[in-house]
This record gives sequence, C-alpha cells and structure tokens, in this order.
Amino acid sequence: MKTIVIIGGGLGGLSSAISLARKGYKVHVLEKNNHFGGKMRRYHIGNASFDFGPNTITMPEIFQKVISQTGANPDHYFTFERIVTHTRNHFSDGTYLDMSSDADEMKQNLAPHSISSSSYEHYLAEITRLYQLSKEHFFPRTFTGWTDYLSPTLTKALLSVHPLQNLDTFHRRYFKDERVVQMLNRYATYIGSSPYQTPATFAMIAYLELVQGVYYVRGGNPTIAEGFVKRATELGVTLHTNKQATRIQVEQKKAVAVECEDGSYYPCDEVILNGDLLQVYPDLVAEEHRPSFLNKKRDQLQPSISAFVILVSLNTRLKDLRHHQVYFSRDYKQEFDDLFKQQQYSMDPTIYICNSSFTEPALSPDGDNLFILVNAPALTEAHTQPKKLESYKQHIYSLLESKGIPIHAHLIKDQVITPKTIQKDYSAYRGALYGLAANTKRHAFLRPQNKAQDLKNLYFVGGSTHPGGGSPMVVLSGLNVARLISKK
Ligand SMILES: Cc1cc2nc3c(=O)[nH]c(=O)nc-3n(C[C@H](O)[C@H](O)[C@H](O)COP(=O)(O)OP(=O)(O)OC[C@H]3O[C@@H](n4cnc5c(N)ncnc54)[C@H](O)[C@@H]3O)c2cc1C
Repeated sequence: MKTIVIIGGGLGGLSSAISLARKGYKVHVLEKNNHFGGKMRRYHIGNASFDFGPNTITMPEIFQKVISQTGANPDHYFTFERIVTHTRNHFSDGTYLDMSSDADEMKQNLAPHSISSSSYEHYLAEITRLYQLSKEHFFPRTFTGWTDYLSPTLTKALLSVHPLQNLDTFHRRYFKDERVVQMLNRYATYIGSSPYQTPATFAMIAYLELVQGVYYVRGGNPTIAEGFVKRATELGVTLHTNKQATRIQVEQKKAVAVECEDGSYYPCDEVILNGDLLQVYPDLVAEEHRPSFLNKKRDQLQPSISAFVILVSLNTRLKDLRHHQVYFSRDYKQEFDDLFKQQQYSMDPTIYICNSSFTEPALSPDGDNLFILVNAPALTEAHTQPKKLESYKQHIYSLLESKGIPIHAHLIKDQVITPKTIQKDYSAYRGALYGLAANTKRHAFLRPQNKAQDLKNLYFVGGSTHPGGGSPMVVLSGLNVARLISKK
C-alpha cells in the first residue's frame, strides 16, 4: 500500500486525504496548528462564535462531492442553507442595493438605478457563458502535462473569455450606474486582486452569487472542515496536529520523506503540499532541488491582498444588519491604488461585515457576532501593520458609527487579526490570502500548476495553486490532485 504524506490540514489537504484514503492509500496529514481546516476556522469570544476565513460559501456541490464520492451521505456531515437575498450593499451616497440570486427580485432592485431587465439578462447570459467555459476547461485541469497547455479547446476557450479586458471595463459595457459597477467590481477581491487589472473572465464569480446562490452552513461554515475531519477519520486517515513539517528530503529528484520539528520522520511514496506554495515550498525544499522555482523568481511575484479583520461581540442585535453587508468606499480606484501601488492601508476602505447570528442566533446568544473585514496590502518590509493598530481599528469603528452602526455603545469584546497574524498562523506568504494576485493575464490563467516541475512526486493543493483561491476551488484542487495520483 502506497503512503501519501500531506503537509497541511486545510480544505485542500483534507479533500485530497479523504479521496486517497477511499482509494486505499495510507495517508498521513501533518498540520502545524492544533486545529484542522486552516483558514476555515472557528473563533470564540465569550458566548459568541465566529467563522474566520470563508464567510460566503458558493458551489456547495463541490464540498458535498468530497463526501459523496466516498459512498457516504454529505447531509450527515454538514447542511447548507441558501440565502436568497444575500448581501446588502451600502454606497457612499447613503443608498443601498440588495443582491439576490432570484433574477426577478434583482431586476426590481436594479430598476431604481435605471438598469433595464434586458441589460441584466444580457449580463447574466454572458457571466453564465464565462462560468460554463471555466467549468469545462479550467476547473478540472492540473496543468501538469503539455497536453493541458497545448489543448486546442483550451486555447479557444481562453480567447473567448475576454482575457484582454479588465473586470471594470467589462462591467461598464452593461451598466452605467457607478454604484452597480462598484458593487460588481468587488468580485475581484474574491481572488485577492484589483478590478482595474484582473481579466474580465472573473466576472464568472458574479455568476456563482447571482445565479447559483450564496450558502451558509448550519452551525457555522467551519462545520465543513469538521465534517471533512470526521470522514477522513472514518476512512482511516492518520491526522496529526501540532506537527510542523520542516524539510522534505529529496533523493534523485524524488521526495522520499518528510521531517518534522519534533524530530518525527515520515517516509513516503508521494507528498502533497497544502501549505502556501509561495512560502512553504521554498521553506521545505532546498533551493538546489527546485531550479524551476528559485527564491528570486518567487520574490518577483505579486501577492494577492491580505485582510485586516476585527471580530466583535455585541450585547444587542442591531436592526440595520443582515447576514452579509458591504459599506463601500467613496473612491474605489483610490482604494486599489492604496492596496497595490502604494501598498498602504486605505483611510476610506470598503468594509464588509458578516453577522452570521442574523441567520442562526444561537451562535451568539447575547447579540450580534460581527466579522468585520477590510482589505489590506500584503506585507512588505516597510509596512508590516497599519502604523497604529488600535487607532486603525478605532478609525473603522468611527466610519461604521457614521454609517449608523454603533459599535462602541454595544461592544462586549473584540479581537483584531492582522496580515501578520495570517502570515504566522497559516505560513501565508506576506500574509496574502490567496497566494498570487491575478492582476496579470499570465498569473490569472496560469497559476502555479498542481505538481512540482523538478520533483517526480511532489504535488500542490490549495489556494496558492490551480484553479484558484476561494474555498470551493481549493477543494477542487484537492480532488484533482487525488485523481492525478491515483491514475499514476
Ligand atoms: C479573512 C479571510 C476571508 C475569506 N473569505 C472567504 C470567503 O468568504 N469565501 C471563500 O470561499 N473563501 C474565503 N477565504 C479563502 C479561504 O479561506 C481559503 O481559500 C481556503 O480556506 C484555503 O484553504 P487551503 O487549504 O488552501 O489553505 P489553508 O487553509 O491555509 O491550509 C493550509 C494549512 O497548512 C498548514 N501548514 C502550513 N505550513 C505547514 C507546515 N510546514 N507543516 C504543517 N502544516 C503546515 C497551515 O497551518 C494550514 O492549516 C477567506 C480567507 C480569509 C483569510
């Protein structure tokens, strides 16, 4: 029986582990933290529980497939609930627009913005086409062989997904209202990128939310990771926590074992790296064994954005809050210039708030449980944090106060999570949420492939590799790599 060692117990590593265990492999998952699920994680402050990482869940069928393909019923592990009217978008002029996956409701909501039903229908038709092409040509590939790159169907698909147009220009073809363009441009941040640079192809993310729907998992979204752990255990995966891998031992272009900080040693036939490729691959494999991925090559890559997160437990339920809401900045272009060009925190940032207790009050019996997220630049040597952490947090509270969200008056307790925390807790390169930014055509379409070019048996899964950064894509990468290994 072949032994597979998986470094990292995030969603990517867990989905590979389940798939491979079912196929009869002996699987070890080595996780440096004392929880599985990586960035999908539960926090507790007093009586309130919070979901860190994925707050907005799309494509539930991908998570369900991890369980169902092993012959079990996904409903026994986690339950998805669709939130039809899902996100309230507040604009700087004081107006708001509710987003819905019900097309008729959405047309009604767009009408005051002078957007006709037919413009919206044309937009939906185009983003549906973009999604179908991605699903067929990009999601299932691992880009591990020349056939993946040279496929004529892929080339044809690539040419028809508006690779040369950016997302902002694409949205302006359909909508004149600046507020609607700003609302839809925000999807670029789902891949940690700028709408003024990332290719229009990524409008397919809008398809997921506007057509397929936004989901929440009963008990909190980390229930998915807990369900994966349960299934992995049932299938005989050996799960290790507090087990930091420190070196992948290489002999004749082959990974032969993984060494850990505590001195333990795991000989293996194949290795899957779920830790961030940009950080952990160079950390674990000596440079001489990876001539195709030298440190200086990595240092030239542009990382995706990071996040400044505040978890807030309140002693009341604020009547103006829904499950998901966004408070947009006045000048979106300036915000992305701050993030990517100036590499600094915006003083007029767009603020996202998830209040999952709106849907499930039991998660926070005393009042709202707010997950407040502001986009942050990836860490640089010059800027590791906002200069004054406490004053930036207070600035966010003041901005919210001015928008009618009185945090101070109802605050029980809060906790700040900075890019530095994200870098440290998940070994994320420069604190970036999704590895590489998709701000260039090359990095948008050719993310790091799922197999090391220089080693015969080292594979990559997770948000920093193909097909991309959101949690369903991460799970797909895990399934794709498991398939690749079992075919071998
Ligand atoms: C603030 C925030 C908001 C987000 N919002 C959303 C959202 O709304 N919707 C969505 O779909 N996605 C969202 N995401 C993205 C989503 O969380 C990630 O894409 C996904 O969880 C990443 O999974 P992964 O398996 O790639 O990596 P990770 O979750 O980072 O897992 C990798 C694991 O590897 C471990 N590891 C690293 N190095 C080692 C080592 N040397 N030895 C042992 N273990 C190691 C790490 O500890 C970690 O547990 C968000 C992320 C963040 C941070």
